[in-house]
Amino acid sequence: MSRGAGSRSAGKITKVQALEVLDSRGNPTVQTTVWSNDISATASVPSGASTGVHEALELRDGDKKRYGGKGVLKACKNVNEKIFKAIKGISAADQEKIDRTMLELDGTANKAKLGANAILSVSLAAARLAAKSQKKELYQYLANLYGYEIKHLPTPFFNVINGGVHADSGLDIQEFFLIPLLGNFANKLRMAAEVFHALKSQLASKGFATSVGDEGGFAPKLSSNEDAFKQLETVIKSAKYKLGTDFALGLDAASSEFFNEKKGVYEFKASKISATPSNVYQVYKKWLAKYPLMVIEDGCAQDDFLGWKFLTQNLGDKTLLIGDDIFVTNPARIQMGITQKIANAVLIKVNQIGTLTETIEAIKLSQKNNYKIVISHRSGETCDSFIADLAVATNADYIKTGAPSRGERLAKYNRLLEIENQLDK
Ligand code: PGA
Ligand code: ZN
Repeated sequence: MSRGAGSRSAGKITKVQALEVLDSRGNPTVQTTVWSNDISATASVPSGASTGVHEALELRDGDKKRYGGKGVLKACKNVNEKIFKAIKGISAADQEKIDRTMLELDGTANKAKLGANAILSVSLAAARLAAKSQKKELYQYLANLYGYEIKHLPTPFFNVINGGVHADSGLDIQEFFLIPLLGNFANKLRMAAEVFHALKSQLASKGFATSVGDEGGFAPKLSSNEDAFKQLETVIKSAKYKLGTDFALGLDAASSEFFNEKKGVYEFKASKISATPSNVYQVYKKWLAKYPLMVIEDGCAQDDFLGWKFLTQNLGDKTLLIGDDIFVTNPARIQMGITQKIANAVLIKVNQIGTLTETIEAIKLSQKNNYKIVISHRSGETCDSFIADLAVATNADYIKTGAPSRGERLAKYNRLLEIENQLDK
């Protein structure tokens, strides 16, 4: 190709190649590279364990002879054949067109035909390719594309005690957050890492295991959910920080996992209590009275709109009530929440919805209605740090991407350090 023709076609997608790789749990996931002539960019897809029933479909092969049925060769084939054929020649910078083309090609409501994992890998890799072609940092490119002026970095939630389906600690609550409140991002990360190490010593001195769960937090077999708060209260003090001013606490109940649908009750086994949709907020209210709980995520289950209403009416002015499984980053479900005055913050997970375009729609809709934004990883991750750039580009209020431990979690936190450093110059 002549030089002239090359520059005219700059940015157009010329090749797409998906590869089955493994995530942080050792399960297969899709990694896709998109080319425009000799420029290429790659993105990998995360995978949840406490997956909401309304999420877009993660296509797995179901062939029990490979990876216990979890292989993603079909999703990779969809990328390499059908998707490539459809998006070949589209400019990588035309994100909307790329994503809409894939949505049309799929034609289902939950991306069941091509797989949200196949679609997302292309969507994210295309954005990265466009940024690279324009010689921009990904966060700058995304901020420009979606009309944001970068104002701040997100405050991180560090999940330092893992329970629920992410660990065998026996705790019902899936995640206990440390939320550092002082200074810039680098300072917050340092504070969290210091307390994380102090927590390791504290747990070890009491005879608890200090091995880590899926998101890098410890997974001690504590006597109750309340004991996890006590451990955090003690360790913050011993690390010479003040609870309430230097650090807040938070939790992700992931309560869809312990809501007994048949009986219609939440079973907090580790606390030996159960609660109905109309009074489950009282469990959290008691914890709120004792500890500075800045965040309660998924306090109610994915379809328990009644519980969510009571929760929001009673605690919505006292704490951040984040909807994860109830909203699944889906603009239609978020709109339902807005209309019914449910929650006051939205968790954003790119693979719950499956394209960058729809993720941005979800973020903008939430922001327009004064819901706070929390960009989130999944429990199964790769070292792809796309969400760090996404959080900065969209002025997300918060980010949660695990404990300050495990490479796939640090990939995001270290990228935020890098971005902060660049923005400070
Ligand atoms: P998941 O957990 O990635 O296993 O769904 C994270 C969360 O529930 O927020
Ligand atoms: Zn959650």
